[in-house]
Amino acid sequence: MSHHFETDAIRQQMERSPYLEHSVPLYLTSSFVFEDAEDMRASFAEEKERNLYGRYSNPNTSEFIQKIVTMEGAEEGYAFATGMSAIFSTFAALLNAGDHVVSCNSVFGSTHGLFANYFPKWNIETSYFKVNQVDKIESLIQPNTKILYAESPTNPAVDILDLELLGKIAKKHNLLFIVDNCFATPYLQNPIKFGADLVIHSATKLMDGQGRVLGGVTVGKADLIRQIYLFSRITGPAMSPFNAWVLSKSLETLSVRVDRHCENALKVAEFLEQHDSVNFVKYPFLKSHPQYEMAKKQMKLGGNIVAFEVKGGIDAGRKFLDSIKLCSLSANLGDTRTIVTHPASTTHSKLLESERMETGISDGMVRISVGLENVNDIIKDLKQALH
Ligand SMILES: *Cc1c(COP(=O)(O)O)cnc(C)c1O
Repeated sequence: MSHHFETDAIRQQMERSPYLEHSVPLYLTSSFVFEDAEDMRASFAEEKERNLYGRYSNPNTSEFIQKIVTMEGAEEGYAFATGMSAIFSTFAALLNAGDHVVSCNSVFGSTHGLFANYFPKWNIETSYFKVNQVDKIESLIQPNTKILYAESPTNPAVDILDLELLGKIAKKHNLLFIVDNCFATPYLQNPIKFGADLVIHSATKLMDGQGRVLGGVTVGKADLIRQIYLFSRITGPAMSPFNAWVLSKSLETLSVRVDRHCENALKVAEFLEQHDSVNFVKYPFLKSHPQYEMAKKQMKLGGNIVAFEVKGGIDAGRKFLDSIKLCSLSANLGDTRTIVTHPASTTHSKLLESERMETGISDGMVRISVGLENVNDIIKDLKQALH
């Protein structure tokens, strides 16, 4: 029986053990036993669905996967040690040498590194479109194009891509449409509704939401997940049962946490927008956001990432970070703790200035992952750091 999002997140759990525990136990076991020779043969022949070995499946990882499958409206899924192993394994399972990928140029830094530094080794080429040039996508498609790839909202500039339009283009040209839905979470946005074949998440971010564990997951069409599963079963990027257990519990509070994250983020964005030391603020649910209408159409709320530019360029951006007292300077995002970063001097420092400008990362731009502290304390800290 299907319930509302919040109810499934809490009530959809695996079968109880003979102890009839209320909360789900942790199955820290690397393998599982067989009743006899015939059970063993039939299990290896996949005549039965059961757990054999931790690299293939585990009750805790299965519970986590099933929750994300339900939340995203997918058919099947597989869970990985990290978001990047989910991204790598998904591409590696589905692509062949000589294939071509069309991707938005504004994607997570390590994803870009995979396309730029490693795909060429396997003769896989990537062409890029900019967030404001979706009308150019069709001109990038070649006879060997297999995948259309995007994130929305993007990192760190929080631009919004029209997922429905991308889904239609992919369908028309018979491409697989894959979306990294990490910034939105399945609570705010379901790309499958807009035509995505596969949805990838870094569970490290808002899914855990408390800065404890890394994880990743890919969900979507059953035939594609089967290919990803077979590849992963051999290559071994599986999520650990412990992380799956932590993450399944975190999902029970995802909606409550994300609601408050978004409420705080909107207030922070509104505060920054009226501040004299700030050039611009980007937040999907601010009316001034260039894709505000699109964000409202495809997302339930605006997410927890706010980007803004401090007046005075790179020095002002760094000075702002040095003046922060309460918030953390950290590489993570989607934590209970508010985190501020300066992309131009850190995560995106390897890009040329022209490349940074193309992805909307100006020298004075600061990215805030708004946390769950009292929003007045967050604003007070930002206010004193802006002077
Ligand atoms: C963090 C992140 C990833 C990578 O996830 P890891 O768990 O750190 O490997 C991928 N995509 C986006 C959008 C992210 O923010």
